[in-house]
Amino acid sequence: MTEDEIDALEKEMVEELKKPKGRRVLVCPVCGSTEVTYYMGLKTGYQYQCKSCNYVGALVLEKDII
Ligand SMILES: [Zn+2]
Repeated sequence: MTEDEIDALEKEMVEELKKPKGRRVLVCPVCGSTEVTYYMGLKTGYQYQCKSCNYVGALVLEKDII
């Protein structure tokens, strides 16, 4: 592989990282809102919190946004 080819490959990878495709959002299982954030539980480990309905739990849905 030549240096030029490596340069081209690196540029391609950078462009790939810039694309927003394949992003996932967390969806609240109670109200369907996407305003879900990580919530640090004390003994239970990581949980999630919904800003819309204040649901807190380990179970959330994931949705692909394209
Ligand atoms: Zn909710």
